[in-house]
Amino acid sequence: MPEQLSSQVYDAVIVGAGHSGLYLLHKLRGLGFNAIVLEAEDDVGGTWYRNRYPGLRCDVESVLYSYSFDETLDQEWEWSERFPAQPEILSYLHHVADRFDLRKDILLNQKVTGATWDQSLFRWTVATASGRTLQGRFCLMATGILSVPSLPSPELLGDFAGEWYHTANWPKVPVSFAGKRVGVIGTGSSAVQVIPRLAEQAEHLYVFQRTPAFAIPAQNYALDAEYQAWWRTNFRDIREKNRWAQIVGFGDTRMDDSYRVPPVASALDATREEREARYQTFWDMGGGQITLAYPDLIVNEESNRTLADFTAAKIDEIVADPVTADALKPRGFPLGTKRPCLEIGYYEAFNRDNVNLIDVRKDPIGRTAAEGIVTASGATYDLDAIVFATGYDAVTGALLRMDVRGVDGLSLAEKWADGPVAYLGLMTEGFPNLFLVLGPTSPSAFTNCVSSIEQHVDWIADLLVDMRERGDATVEATAEAEEAWSEHAASLVQMTLFPKASSWYMGDNIPGKPRRMLIYIGGMAAYRTKCDDVARSGYVGLARSKESESAPVVRS
Ligand code: NAP
Repeated sequence: MPEQLSSQVYDAVIVGAGHSGLYLLHKLRGLGFNAIVLEAEDDVGGTWYRNRYPGLRCDVESVLYSYSFDETLDQEWEWSERFPAQPEILSYLHHVADRFDLRKDILLNQKVTGATWDQSLFRWTVATASGRTLQGRFCLMATGILSVPSLPSPELLGDFAGEWYHTANWPKVPVSFAGKRVGVIGTGSSAVQVIPRLAEQAEHLYVFQRTPAFAIPAQNYALDAEYQAWWRTNFRDIREKNRWAQIVGFGDTRMDDSYRVPPVASALDATREEREARYQTFWDMGGGQITLAYPDLIVNEESNRTLADFTAAKIDEIVADPVTADALKPRGFPLGTKRPCLEIGYYEAFNRDNVNLIDVRKDPIGRTAAEGIVTASGATYDLDAIVFATGYDAVTGALLRMDVRGVDGLSLAEKWADGPVAYLGLMTEGFPNLFLVLGPTSPSAFTNCVSSIEQHVDWIADLLVDMRERGDATVEATAEAEEAWSEHAASLVQMTLFPKASSWYMGDNIPGKPRRMLIYIGGMAAYRTKCDDVARSGYVGLARSKESESAPVVRS
């Protein structure tokens, strides 16, 4: 890094060069702010750079899992499939970085280790593992919600002598599993995608399943010339509709909106035949929108069970061995309270002779020995490779792995010891001029994340422009505002079935992580309206100060 870069004070230091960081840089630069991005990896792309396991694709439709801020970009980029595979998403992000000349303001191989607020200079000092420090008036965390893998504990890894991989940390060079005995631990979204591909290659594949997932067919298809023409004609309307949709980006973009309108208020108000027909429509349509078939599916356990039964019957239809079929059926949590997986050939993989399902709820993994996995019953599975598809320390993981210190040296880890609180999921009291893109209690994973990112970035940019015009030096959430937002977000969760599942949504998958819904479940439209209202009100809930003041005093 040139020396002058480390001594310069930036308007904005952005951490991360994924979807969020790239758009932040483009937006802020366009508004005349002097911005720089620090990226830990050796290239841009964020989660879509690090994740590259076979079978990986997004569960949001490609035409929507892309930026809407530039119409020419929308017109010139052609997606090849309904649900984009990782290489295509990464190519798109590289195209965006090049097209908008972003790379010149991105410093690669700069893993941020901490950020410290200097109250006298009204600045953040951001430090990297390579020993560099950069200063910025604003620090913007664009670190992603699913960017920190939950790696195997030393007990789970044991003294395994073979190769091991985590889906979220896949090697850059292709890995061959041909002729190998492979174990996959986990059956979440990543596992559901990687298993069919590993099954095609491996000599034998053992799937170690603790909790069966609800998996819905993706019904992926190629986007032909007719689709491309349709998109070019309609993209403006669809983009605008999506900005205001309750749940954004799931389902079939081309389908008429009428299918979203439920015929009755409860699944239980429909006859069995009507219900099955409606579930079948959503099943055939593919994508993750099936829980919207009736409005009460995510609040009424009995209604939810009708959908769970429908999906269980589908497993029976596909999986030949009845014992395996039964073991694959999710139980003990309502459908949708853990993220439903989109599958392509997942259940079919269990019909192969070289694939076995090991139910580790019944016979837990006792230890991982040098030669493979030994279960509590003493059964030994000799393995050449283990693939851990064990998920992420989601939403707060990346933020709390950095030493972020605000006013009076308070660390974010101390402040969030009982769980994260953040006003609109974007700012937290005691950390002036710090913004969290896709922060805790923002809608993130319950929306199309790219739509959420664009909303956040535009909102933050408007605020920074407003501050520049007013001559403000700092902005910070008030304690009252963030408490009220957190309570509102939590109160919505209490009305639903989400607390009934042990999920990464609630922080359950990471030992010691406080149990708290990490995502705002009120939907994109409600969230956007709230953010717009806050801006229109002159930013109620935010405290601002001028440079001549030592502490924030201008309270809206
Ligand atoms: P995940 O949903 O958290 O699944 C992790 C899996 O590993 C679960 O089956 C879990 O079992 C299992 N597991 C964890 N520790 C274990 C242990 N010690 N022993 C046995 N099993 C263990 O993680 P993920 O599959 O990586 O997905 C995370 C999220 O990333 C998804 O929900 C989705 O939002 C996103 N994602 C999206 C896509 C896509 O767009 N299609 C693809 C991949 C990921 P338990 O359930 O029993 O804990």
